[in-house]
Amino acid sequence: MNTGTLILATAALILISGCAPLPPIPPESAAVQQCLVCRNKRDFSCLTVEKTPATPHARYGGRDYWFCSENCRCEFEKRPDQFSSKP
Ligand SMILES: [Zn+2]
Repeated sequence: MNTGTLILATAALILISGCAPLPPIPPESAAVQQCLVCRNKRDFSCLTVEKTPATPHARYGGRDYWFCSENCRCEFEKRPDQFSSKP
């Protein structure tokens, strides 16, 4: 990676994090949760998920996690420690 690319990447990172800061993870009891897989990917379009019987859901480390899709749930179950740890 050359210096120009590095500067560009850094600027993009600042721009992304500056424009869209990650909202705090809601408490487990909240009706609206975050898809931690999308949070990890900074994919804000489907970050927020409602807790409904149809929502993909997994239990790990004594707490429940909710996901925007079955894909995200599968990804979480492959590496749950990567997503459940606090950023
Ligand atoms: Zn997701």
